[in-house]
Amino acid sequence: MENCKKIATRIRTDAVRMTNRAKSGHVGSMLSMADIIAVLYEKILKVDPKNPDMPERDRFILSKGHAAAGVYSALAQKGFIPEEWLERYYCDDGKLMGHISHKVPGVEFSTGSLGHGLPVATGMAIAARYAKSDRRIFVMSSDGDMNEGSTWEAILFAAQEHLSNLTLIIDYNQVQALGHSEDVIDLRDLKVKLEAFGWAVREIDGHNYEEIESALSSVPFDGNKPSAVIANTIKCKGIPALEDTVKSHYKFIPDEEIEAVIKHIEEEAK
Ligand SMILES: [Mg+2]
Repeated sequence: MENCKKIATRIRTDAVRMTNRAKSGHVGSMLSMADIIAVLYEKILKVDPKNPDMPERDRFILSKGHAAAGVYSALAQKGFIPEEWLERYYCDDGKLMGHISHKVPGVEFSTGSLGHGLPVATGMAIAARYAKSDRRIFVMSSDGDMNEGSTWEAILFAAQEHLSNLTLIIDYNQVQALGHSEDVIDLRDLKVKLEAFGWAVREIDGHNYEEIESALSSVPFDGNKPSAVIANTIKCKGIPALEDTVKSHYKFIPDEEIEAVIKHIEEEAK
């Protein structure tokens, strides 16, 4: 798991630097999912940076598209895109948009407005079945995504179609743009809800590499159902002053704090 930790640490430090340079937000959303993204790209996804359009590749959709910088960092570390691109993230002359874009090699689908990732992933899962392909579809959603009606339509449909090639990962940090989720739209017992809708569900610590790998390498949990992984995470994990805060959603780290923040993240990883 050393490599996963290394990749996740770089995702965190890249996200801090990229959002600082761009004076853009969402650092809390990127740090929350960093460990899961690292395990996905290091251990789970069958993808090839030399052949990003390989037909039989697994598909990954980041439905919380505002956390794009976290995935761009992983793509750079894996060789899909040049490292230099990260330096011009969210700049007028850069190649990396502030919300995730399929114009970037290795990205399957552009998102930003919430509630789109799972419906599209469901279509991809049906397409894979028609093509008699073993490729798998993974999608990462957020608390805000789980408030969207389109997400729940897709949850109904995926169960109806027994899409066992589809895995939904929920970055369940229980914070969203405008508040803690219990104060915005309380999802209450999400596991019970998803099971009632016909999904096979596993709940994990989304910062524990072993638990993440164990869950994602065991899908489908039930050969007749789509799989959901509820990953309990901490918003802005790695920057103690901002962990579990609403303000970390739109925040970037200012110049005068950045070196101390990077140092803390790197030391935590030792
Ligand atoms: Mg959240």
